[in-house]
Amino acid sequence: MADKTITCKDCGEDFVFTEGEQQFYAEKGFENEPIRCKKCRDARKAQRNNRRSDDQGGFNSPRIKKY
Ligand SMILES: [Zn+2]
Repeated sequence: MADKTITCKDCGEDFVFTEGEQQFYAEKGFENEPIRCKKCRDARKAQRNNRRSDDQGGFNSPRIKKY
């Protein structure tokens, strides 16, 4: 295995999918390579966390799926 350069789907920047990360993915059984750089993945993760805390804070809101 060797490091791979992938173009991020979100920001269009090239990022390196390192040998170690590829191994990690293989160990986890992920079949797909990452399509976003770490920055964008972190941003998306943060977004998801925000949404989750929104849901918990909605003491008054009806149960509506906001997707
Ligand atoms: Zn990106």
